[in-house]
Amino acid sequence: MARDPNCVFCKIVAGDIPTHRIHESDAGLAFLDVGPLADGHLLWVPKDHYERLDTLPPDLAGALCASLPQLGRAVQQVTQAAGYNVLQNNGRVAGQEVNHVHFHIIPRAAGDGLGYRWPAKEYPAGRAEELAEQLRSACSGP
Ligand code: AMP
Repeated sequence: MARDPNCVFCKIVAGDIPTHRIHESDAGLAFLDVGPLADGHLLWVPKDHYERLDTLPPDLAGALCASLPQLGRAVQQVTQAAGYNVLQNNGRVAGQEVNHVHFHIIPRAAGDGLGYRWPAKEYPAGRAEELAEQLRSACSGP
């Protein structure tokens, strides 16, 4: 098991610091976020230490994503949430504070005051085509 001795989530996985463990598979562990945005806010983390989503081996990424429907059903059932967000931050600029891959599963209710700034913009002429070509090429690489 790949572990970073300085990582708080590795310590939680190892049982070295206390948490409320919710669900476990060979690949991951779900536990309550200690600073919840809503009751039942879960974190779902790989047991092995990886910093960002894009560094996960594909089979581990698949195994983690396979549990998301079950976790989503559980938080809705228990909290009576009308919906939920799955939020996954990569890099400090994107809001990642803990450098161990994690999925937030955040129950949502109407008028809960949570949200995300979403200042959608438009592409200037030609930019979408330029980006699409570069991204298709990047996606076909390793
Ligand atoms: P992020 O900003 O996406 O890196 O989110 C990190 C999350 O980890 C925050 O929501 C914290 O509340 C949560 N967190 C940090 N330490 C602990 C801990 N010991 N137990 C449970 N959740 C934690």
